[in-house]
Order: sequence, then structure tokens, then C-alpha cells
Amino acid sequence: MSKNHKIDTKLIHAGEPEQRYGGAVSMPIFQSSTFEFEGETDYHDLRYIRLNNTPNHKVLHEKLAALENGEDALVTSSGMAAISAALLAFLKSGDHFLAHESLYGGTHDLINKDFPDLEIECDFIDGCDPGNWKDKLRPETKLIYVETITNPLLDVLDLNAVVQFAKEHNLLSLIDNTFASPVNYRPLEHGFDLSLHSATKYLNGHTDIVAGAAIGSTELITRVRHKLNHLGGSLDPNACFLMHRGMKTLGIRMARQNSNSLDIAGFLENHEKVSKVNHPGLKSSASHARARELLEGFGGMVSFEIDGNVNDADRFIAHLTLFINTPSLGGVESLVTRPVQTSHSGMSVKERSCAGIKDKLIRLSIGIEAGDDLIADLEQALNKI
Ligand SMILES: *Cc1c(COP(=O)(O)O)cnc(C)c1O
Repeated sequence: MSKNHKIDTKLIHAGEPEQRYGGAVSMPIFQSSTFEFEGETDYHDLRYIRLNNTPNHKVLHEKLAALENGEDALVTSSGMAAISAALLAFLKSGDHFLAHESLYGGTHDLINKDFPDLEIECDFIDGCDPGNWKDKLRPETKLIYVETITNPLLDVLDLNAVVQFAKEHNLLSLIDNTFASPVNYRPLEHGFDLSLHSATKYLNGHTDIVAGAAIGSTELITRVRHKLNHLGGSLDPNACFLMHRGMKTLGIRMARQNSNSLDIAGFLENHEKVSKVNHPGLKSSASHARARELLEGFGGMVSFEIDGNVNDADRFIAHLTLFINTPSLGGVESLVTRPVQTSHSGMSVKERSCAGIKDKLIRLSIGIEAGDDLIADLEQALNKI
């Protein structure tokens, strides 16, 4: 496997055992909690499922590292396990860090509700406005944490400025790259120190497991791995197998999701019953220029407001036949949700209004169905309100 292979080739071949187990073309599941002692000298090297080092983990680690051109990677039992282990690996009591103001709800709550007890402090910044970050720096500031594409308004942050700021001020830079996937953005190539994923979403892509991943240098991944070994968030070999199988089609899934979502965003923008559409691929998006510069695809998410009230939004959702009404994202099937009711229900009315998230906002996760069928479904539901 060479670094020069394209990502679609790496998805199939990177990390696969050179000597196939029993000649098996597909990686078998090693359903064994522990493995025979081979003279390992370090606790973290004993082969045991919780230590995330069975053959099923190792294949995934090598594949994930290859996809984003990192030295090493780690799979975890969920996206939150990757995020919490990473933050706790690099932050201790008395430390301070900066994070983008609108983050995934679980991450936001971890920072706001759990970190104060550990005396780890955070200041939130606007990731699109680098001029204001310096004021928030303190001598004890250790890292900066952002997401590639924000949820649910789908802004692309000033990622190059984040990397530059981190280097200037000697901070570690961490990014949650879930929404972009390694197909659309590879953070380490742009200078980020650590890339994190909820593999539950695009990486696995089939809405059947919860998993997470971290990708970075050997040194940083080793620190996250040791923290995770103690916290216990390991991925079961069966789930490793499913994630491995799902990942092989990431390239073709993402290509379809990128194109379907761009077509759907364009359709919605031209529809008289739609007042606003958020998608980084639209020229009307404030993030469009940045998205074109940084991303290789605009992703599979679209959010929009219909020209009406919350009840109209709910009636529209009820009339959809192909889109399934649920939060989460990144699977092969198209999903619809009203974020204020689901993913963003933990935010106060004031926080939501500051962030520009209206009650009637609708979010779509576009799947790999035929784009025309999805558009026809959206059209018939819009015509009923
Ligand atoms: C879903 C999600 C997470 C959390 O991942 P889990 O696998 O549910 O633990 C973190 N970040 C983003 C951007 C997500 O969409």
C-alpha cells in the first residue's frame, strides 16, 4: 500500500493483513477477549479487547491512519469515547482551552457540565472570526477544539486560521471531522494535530453501530490510547467487523451523498415555499468560498427553513415518505429532523437564538438513494403545506 494510492483504493486495501488469515479475503472476527502471552513487557501491549489491540482493531487502525495520512489511529466504542479520551489525555486540572461556540451537543455538555468538576476551563470562540481569539488566551491555555462543518447551520470554520493560531501560540489543535469524513477533508494534511470522528456516521455509514476514531501522530495517539485503556471505551470485535465492512464503500457513498445533497440544496433554494437553505456548496452560503478552498466535497447535510411556522415544518416532515424522522446522520438512508426538537433540545432559547437556530429549522441527512426520487419526495411534501 503506497501513500500515493487514492482514498478509494486505500479504503479497500490499506491495513489488510499481508498474510490473509486462513486465506480469508474478508477479515475474520476474532471473538476472543484475551490472547496468549508472548513476552510483552508493557501493560498496554498485552493483547486484550479493552486495550483495543486485537487483530480486528489493528486492521482498522492502519486503515484509518492511511485514509487521513496519519502515523497512527485508534478506534473507540463511540464518537464521544474518542472525544472525551482525547480531551482528557491532553487537559488536566487548572488547564484552559478554546472551543468553537456551536459544537455537537454531547461535546458541548461534556465541556459545560463535566469539565468544571475537573477544574478544566473552556472559553468559546467564533471559529469564523480569528480576530477575536487572541483575547481569550491565558498562560494555561493548552489547546483549541473545532469541528470541520458546524451543525445544523453547516458553516465551514476558518480551519487554516485555527492551525496557524495553534502553531503561533503553541496549542494542540483538535478537530471533529465527522461531518466531512476523510473523503472531503483530511485535517492532518492541513496541519491539525488530531482528527476525531464519530464513526457511527459516515465512516461506518450503515446506521447499525456506534463507534469512534482518533487519527494523529504516534506520540499523540499513544497518549489517547493509554487514557482510553483506563477509561474503558473499547470497540467490540463484532462492531470492528461491521465498521470495517462499512468503511470499504465510504468513497462511493460519499460521492453520491455529496452530489445528491448539492442537487437537493439547489432544488430547495429555488422552491417558493422555502425561505432559506444552508449548504456549503451553495453560492449563497457565507462559507462557500472557504468550502471550495478547503473541502473536496461539500458533504451530505442540508438544512433549511420553510416559509411558514413550526407547525408547517412538522406537517412537511409528516408528509415525507422516503426520509425517516430521526436525528443522527451519515447513513445510506435519508433522514430528516427538526434540530430544536432533537439534537439541539439541550440548548436554551437564548443560546439557540444567538446561534441563529430557529425552531422551524429542518435538517436533512442525505443518503444514497436516487436523487430524483428524494427531490420528488421533498416536492410532494412541500406542496402539501
Ligand atoms: C454523533 C456525533 C458525535 C458523537 O458520536 P457518538 O458516536 O454518538 O458518540 C460527535 N460529533 C459529531 C459531529 C457527531 O455528529
